[in-house]
Amino acid sequence: ARAGLAALRDVPAITLDGVTISLEANIELPEEAQAVVDAGAEGIGLFRSEFLFMGRDSLPGEEEQYQAYASVVRTLAGRPVTIRTLDIGADKTLDGEATVATNPALGQRAIRYCLARPEMFQTQLRAMLRASAHGPVRILIPMVANLREVRAAYAAIAQARQELDHRGQAYAERIEVGAMVEVPAVAIAIEPFVEAFDFLSIGTNDLIQYTLAIDRADPDVGGLYDPLHPAVLRLISNAINAGARGGKPVAVCGEMAGDVKLTRLLLGLGLTHFSMHPQQLLDVKREILRAHTNALRTRVAAILNRAAEMDLELLNQ
Ligand code: PEP
Ligand code: MG
Repeated sequence: ARAGLAALRDVPAITLDGVTISLEANIELPEEAQAVVDAGAEGIGLFRSEFLFMGRDSLPGEEEQYQAYASVVRTLAGRPVTIRTLDIGADKTLDGEATVATNPALGQRAIRYCLARPEMFQTQLRAMLRASAHGPVRILIPMVANLREVRAAYAAIAQARQELDHRGQAYAERIEVGAMVEVPAVAIAIEPFVEAFDFLSIGTNDLIQYTLAIDRADPDVGGLYDPLHPAVLRLISNAINAGARGGKPVAVCGEMAGDVKLTRLLLGLGLTHFSMHPQQLLDVKREILRAHTNALRTRVAAILNRAAEMDLELLNQ
């Protein structure tokens, strides 16, 4: 079966009714970039940059980060690389940094953490911008919750560009900037975020955690963590539909995107952009090649409108 799957590597992901689906991959370290190319992914939809910062005593400097990002961009040879700015805090912590937050998942993590440490953020943004001189780079901002953060993030990017101009260092003229949809408030009141960004990417791992009030790292409540909860599906649906209305791509890059049992469901919600672990990509592609999105959309909409539990067995048979 694996050999059969490998034959799908260069087959475009187009459904039976002619909808082209974009399949990108997630990585945590630069060494994984080759696996993305080998899997036939169209690009990197999520590079979790925080793994460069974890398990060490000191922060990586601009040069080290630049080398890491640039090596991924070179390996991807013209395919887009979506680098997420540091998503530290909550389940991912820096060594030597004691967590004092009462509730780290609701505390100063991700973009909140970066905006509170402007120098560290500038260092990373300059490294990311410099990597864009070697091929297409997209900047992805994690855990955005309000428009103040959006403005502050854009101001930080502008400042990093200015510093590179001042130094005479190269970066791409046009760099797409996107945000993760992980906070339910954003998935609900999403229109201004569609407008503000070039693309959005739904982080279902956190979106589920925050929507259902289930700590994703707490095994005692792991059984309650439910991607199929009607509220979760309605939020995902709302984000995808708003993106379609606004003409902006909306991806899913959380674990749901790589779960082949959920491929038909996501297609039925109107999803056209997936990003997942490279190992899952061909299985998901095979499912896409057999799917008829029109029929799935009708069935999924009927279930969502009744706010009923999603019966995957019925949907997938
Ligand atoms: C997510 O929350 O779904 C996501 C992709 O980000 P992470 O798992 O790194 O928090
Ligand atoms: Mg997340």
